[in-house]
Amino acid sequence: MDQFEKAADLLKHAKYAVCLTGAGISTESGIPDFRSDRGYYNTFIPEDALSVGVLESDPQRFYKEGYTILKDLEGKKPNPGHRALAEMQKGGYLHEIITQNIDDLHQQAGAKDVLQVHGDASTARCERCDYRCDFDEFDRHVEEGDIPPTCPKCGHEMRTNVVLFGDAMPPAFDRAVRVAEKADVMLVVGSSLQVMPVAYLPRMAEHLIIVNQGATPYDHTADVIFKGTASDVLVELEKRLSE
Ligand code: NAD
Repeated sequence: MDQFEKAADLLKHAKYAVCLTGAGISTESGIPDFRSDRGYYNTFIPEDALSVGVLESDPQRFYKEGYTILKDLEGKKPNPGHRALAEMQKGGYLHEIITQNIDDLHQQAGAKDVLQVHGDASTARCERCDYRCDFDEFDRHVEEGDIPPTCPKCGHEMRTNVVLFGDAMPPAFDRAVRVAEKADVMLVVGSSLQVMPVAYLPRMAEHLIIVNQGATPYDHTADVIFKGTASDVLVELEKRLSE
C-alpha cells in the first residue's frame, strides 16, 4: 500500500475527519508563510510586528511592518490545493476545515463553514461601536495616513479582524477544539505546528496525516507523512478518494 492509498483509506473509513491548514497551503498562491526560506521571518518577527502591544503602543510601526501581511493578500487566488480540499469536503471525506489562515482562499475555492481560528483579513471593525467594513474601506484610511483608521460612525479607532499575537482566541477556536476532540482522523496541511494554541489540536485526533515540506513536532506520531508540495499531494489524494 503506498502513502496515498494509506491516507485515502484512513479518510474513507473515518467517522469524523477534520482538516487543519496553515500558511503553507497558500504559498503556491503567492502568499509567503512565516517560517520557510522566503517566509516573513526574514523581514520581521511576526510575534512582535503583528502584536496587540505594537498596534497599541506604536501604530505607525504596526502599519509599516505587520500590516504588510494584510496588504500582500490583495488579489490572491486559490490554488489547486484549496480546490482539492473543497472537493474532499463536498465528497463527504472531510467533515470540517479549520484554518489558521486569514486569506479567505478556502472559501473562495468553495469550502463551506471554514473555522478561521486566527480571524479574517478581509474585514475590520470599530472597537467601540462595532461598525464593520471591508478591507478596501479600511485600507483607504491607512493609505490616506489616517493611522490608526478612524471609525466613520463614532470617531474611535478601527482595527483588523485578524487575531493578533496577544489577542484572545475567537469563538471559532472553541468550536475547533470541539471538532478536534471528535476527530478520528486529522489531515494537517502546510503548518509548522509551532503557533500555540492551535498546535495542540493535532494531539486530540486518533490518526494524523501530515502534508508539509518542513518538519513538524508531530512527524514521529503521524500515520502518514507527505513531504511534497501541498497542491500536488492534495490533488492526487482527492483523485484517489474519488476513484
Ligand atoms: P509556518 O510558516 O509556521 O509554517 C508553514 C509550513 O508550511 C512550513 O513548515 C513549510 O515548510 C510548509 N510549506 C510551505 N509551503 C508549502 C507547500 N507549498 N507545500 C507544503 N508545505 C509547505 O505557518 P503556520 O504554521 O500556518 O503558522 C504561521 C501563522 O501565520 C499562522 O497563524 C498563519 O495563519 C499565519 N499566516 C497566514 C498566512 C495566510 O493567511 N496565507 C500567511 C502567513 C502567515
